[in-house]
Amino acid sequence: MTKLHIDWTACRGRGACIELLTGVVASDEWGYPLSPDGTDVTIPLDRERDARDAVAMCPRLALSFVERR
Ligand code: SF4
Repeated sequence: MTKLHIDWTACRGRGACIELLTGVVASDEWGYPLSPDGTDVTIPLDRERDARDAVAMCPRLALSFVERR
């Protein structure tokens, strides 16, 4: 299972990640990405490509994959 970590200290909101991961990452009222449960975001298998694109496109390098254990 792939998990996506959002570095809240680096994120500046209103980014492509919310559009790329519609249905997986929501937006709060200020335009910051929201994890459904406040922790690392579980990425469905069929959205892994979108998640890789989001990591690559984040201008703040605020997204990373959590290592599987
Ligand atoms: S693309 Fe990066 S900086 Fe922009 S909202 Fe997403 S995590 Fe934050």
